[in-house]
Amino acid sequence: QATPALSTSPDELEDLDRRHLIHPLLSGGSTDRCVIVRGKGSTVWDARGNELLDMTGAGNWLAQVGHGRVELGEVMAEQVGRLSYFTSFSEFSNDQSIQLAKRLSTLAPEGFNRVLYTSGGSEAVDMAIKAVRLYHSRRGEPDRTWIISRQMGYHGSTYGGGSATGFDFVHHGVGPTLPHVRKVSPPFPFHPEMYGGEPITDFLVRELEQTIEEIGPGRVAAMIGEPVMGGGGVVEPPPDYWPRVREVLSRHGILLIADEVVTGYGRTGSWFASPERGMAPDVITTAKGITSGYAPLGAALMRDEIGDVVGGGDGFLHGFTYCGHPVGCAVALANLDIIEKEGLVPRSLLIGKWLRQGLAPAAELPAVGEVRVTGATVGIELVANRTTREPMPPPVASSVVKELQQAHGVIARAYGPVVVMAPPLVLEEGEAARAAEATVEVLSRLGT
Ligand code: PMP
Repeated sequence: QATPALSTSPDELEDLDRRHLIHPLLSGGSTDRCVIVRGKGSTVWDARGNELLDMTGAGNWLAQVGHGRVELGEVMAEQVGRLSYFTSFSEFSNDQSIQLAKRLSTLAPEGFNRVLYTSGGSEAVDMAIKAVRLYHSRRGEPDRTWIISRQMGYHGSTYGGGSATGFDFVHHGVGPTLPHVRKVSPPFPFHPEMYGGEPITDFLVRELEQTIEEIGPGRVAAMIGEPVMGGGGVVEPPPDYWPRVREVLSRHGILLIADEVVTGYGRTGSWFASPERGMAPDVITTAKGITSGYAPLGAALMRDEIGDVVGGGDGFLHGFTYCGHPVGCAVALANLDIIEKEGLVPRSLLIGKWLRQGLAPAAELPAVGEVRVTGATVGIELVANRTTREPMPPPVASSVVKELQQAHGVIARAYGPVVVMAPPLVLEEGEAARAAEATVEVLSRLGT
């Protein structure tokens, strides 16, 4: 299939984009635009006809099944023909959202049989925050309103998810954020100096205990965290971190929300990343890979006990118009079928292996502090000094990403000093090798 003839020239499209579209993550002064018009597998094409290898999962850590899956379009068309939408707020429901709920309960950890749908990840986090508060409130503890999250954690862009997010820059000029949110330190093994020489988990558990004590143990509703930090730079915690955090929380009657918006559906080599890290969460937020991006959909999955308490009685979780959208749910089901049939969950580990091999020479370069690979997700931490591990100023990672695209036709993303890759889980071995080789070439040209 060729790139369709565009009714508008690439120049004009880029001009129109500059004139009409707000790109919230693009700094005001930048005039760069790259208009993507087609995709197949792990490749996309821009309006100028440039072929680009998508190492970002459509720019946002998803596209598990790859671009251009016409069969998913057929499923959507069939569903639109049958029923495009009807509210599922109250006594109404639809068959697709029921089928998907059943399917999710077989993929999620045991005992997660309740689901509350949303249109995306931030909304799932907002609903999870409301759900844990409502849970405590209904059980006679209305003062349990505080949420503990972590610096460098990413939880979304709404006021709820955004307030839990541990990057201050996202709040500049739009504060104040949600009250009753406290941030603790993240587990970041590459920077042991953050923990003053103490073993990382010992430090973090002590800090968590102190924080709970300061807020008042009977006032904390839940802690939220990504099993593996994504936007923070693909950071895997030490193996004892989540089990020990969970133990502290349980001792104080505090719930745990695993934000699996990025890590779910194979991204890190399993359907969900929280069980194998000993998180034992009470609520799991999910989105992105649930449809591979073919339709906007998110969900807060709940342990039965939590779901049963918040699903009835007084008080309100409220809801979104598009909760359980039948077209979104139908495409999610078909997407999960593809992930399963094509073995994309184990394939994620294989992709990680290819990328680890290909990127091995990068780990030796003066500007590289660490190459982290978790499933099919990579974070390359750039450093100004390998001995002190002082981070490279963020513009350097951005320039690496730009160079990768311009010189090699490879799309990656920069998060602070980290170059991140989260490709579709259909990436071929040759494509992984090409991306890795290009990355090593660009990074080897960096001075320190
Ligand atoms: N949680 C995590 C861990 C995320 O990475 C993201 C998005 N990158 C979100 C929540 C928010 O999801 P959305 O952008 O779909 O609202």
